[in-house]
Amino acid sequence: MAQAAREGDTVEAVADDDGLARFASVDPRTGETVAHHPVHDAERVADAVAAARTAAAWWAGLGFTGRKERLDSWRKLIVGRLEEGAGLVSAETGKPAADAKMELVAAVGHLHWAARNAERVLRRRKVPSGLLMSNQAASVEYLPLGVIGVIGPWNYPVFTPMGSIGYGLAAGNAVVFKPSELTPGVGVWLADTFAEVVPEHPVLTVVTGFGETGAALCRSGLDKLAFTGSTATAKRVMAACAETLTPVLVECGGKDALIVDYDADVRAAADAAVWGAMSNAGQTCVGIERVYVVDDVADEFVGEVTRIASRLKPGGEPSADFGPITMPAQVDIIRSHVSDAVDRGARAVVGGPESVRPPFVEPVVLLDVPEDSSAIMEETFGPTVTINRVRDADEAIRLANASRYGLGGAVFAKSRGEELARRMHTGMVSVNSVNAFASVPSLPFGGVGDSGFGRIHGEDGLREFTRPQAVTRKRFASPLNPMTFSRTSSTIRRLMSLVRLKYGR
Ligand code: NDP
Repeated sequence: MAQAAREGDTVEAVADDDGLARFASVDPRTGETVAHHPVHDAERVADAVAAARTAAAWWAGLGFTGRKERLDSWRKLIVGRLEEGAGLVSAETGKPAADAKMELVAAVGHLHWAARNAERVLRRRKVPSGLLMSNQAASVEYLPLGVIGVIGPWNYPVFTPMGSIGYGLAAGNAVVFKPSELTPGVGVWLADTFAEVVPEHPVLTVVTGFGETGAALCRSGLDKLAFTGSTATAKRVMAACAETLTPVLVECGGKDALIVDYDADVRAAADAAVWGAMSNAGQTCVGIERVYVVDDVADEFVGEVTRIASRLKPGGEPSADFGPITMPAQVDIIRSHVSDAVDRGARAVVGGPESVRPPFVEPVVLLDVPEDSSAIMEETFGPTVTINRVRDADEAIRLANASRYGLGGAVFAKSRGEELARRMHTGMVSVNSVNAFASVPSLPFGGVGDSGFGRIHGEDGLREFTRPQAVTRKRFASPLNPMTFSRTSSTIRRLMSLVRLKYGR
């Protein structure tokens, strides 16, 4: 029997079958089993990576045009079966049907962009060779790494891993994907639909199981591992990858802040703050968890947020505003953050500790929350938000940046929007909206500090899954060649004169 990796999870292992234990994925709305999946051990993971290595060579050989055709077919197939995929996302995460569909739509946009732009971004291009090397033609090309391992979270089980899978495939790599133990069926669906358009080789394979399966993937001799999940797990993943010097891309959690300046459209800011904090039950890495609002507009802003948030209802029905807390163990964290804030003097204007009713958590809006409390410092990952008043936007920036995380953020302002955005110590900022950057495929996605490093999406996201290869080609013999044992002292003298002329003034 395999063991569930997370305390409090409803994931269970059942009898061995074909030498592999199986575990159930569970609908968090009802507790009902969705399906059983194998717990792949280190041997099966190694087999998957070995098969992917052969597949990678074939896939790279298709070239940009061949790969684009296949990726476009996959995109169309996903769109054609969107209801089916979204149904599975809803079943394994509990999120309402509309949100599941939106997730797939956003993922498809990225797949389209990656396939369409891979050749432009990665193909060999000439670069200047410089005065001293002017007899050389220089070029750089971004070549596939080989086999990419992708470890994904459960909160956006299609959109988030697609940032690595879609861009890694478009760059010419094979991918072995380990979905979260909470959403294995979604991972299998992605690989199965891909295999329908690429039946020849296992270019995208899925291995399922718990943390040990992910750890085995880290140690399997990959060419790169793209991890999305919590900061604590990222550290374990990096340690495992260090054993084989496997490079890593790390997308972790956040504690994103939204700043409301004195001249902001307050109603729009409130609407966006509530959506940013509470959509997907707050289980969004770039969800808004903290708001800093300038005194002049604070009363109006809090009134609007209270009005909107108090109308929202979580539930298991398709029309609910948001669904349950997908990972049971998270419920205690949400409860402790809310209770800690209230015990230390924060005022709950919507909900409170009593809003935590597993598997659902109702909206919680907390005012005047101590800056050193867990609700401000740690990722809550629930439908909660803190609102603190500030003197001006400069104070807001100082407090927003006083976090060990640095993933995304938002600014609502008329005159200083972009200036304030630039001063946020994060990888991404939306001005006068929330999370817009995640759905713009040409923008890089990723953070700093405890939010990780490396980028998915955009040109940076394509290059992340490649090795730049620099090539020079000698066009003619240089009249001044210091890199030969037959050089003379006059060669060095002339070189020094040239260098003084070019670089010494
Ligand atoms: P976890 O860190 O718990 O798990 C992430 C993945 O790592 C899962 O597939 C998990 O498998 C796997 N894993 C667990 N232990 C190991 C190990 N020792 N070695 C290798 N892999 C392992 O994160 P969650 O799934 O709970 O996801 C939520 C977190 O993800 C939040 O912090 C959220 O902010 C962050 N996130 C970040 C995003 C970003 O792009 N920056 C986007 C979305 C989420 P298993 O589930 O089987 O334990």
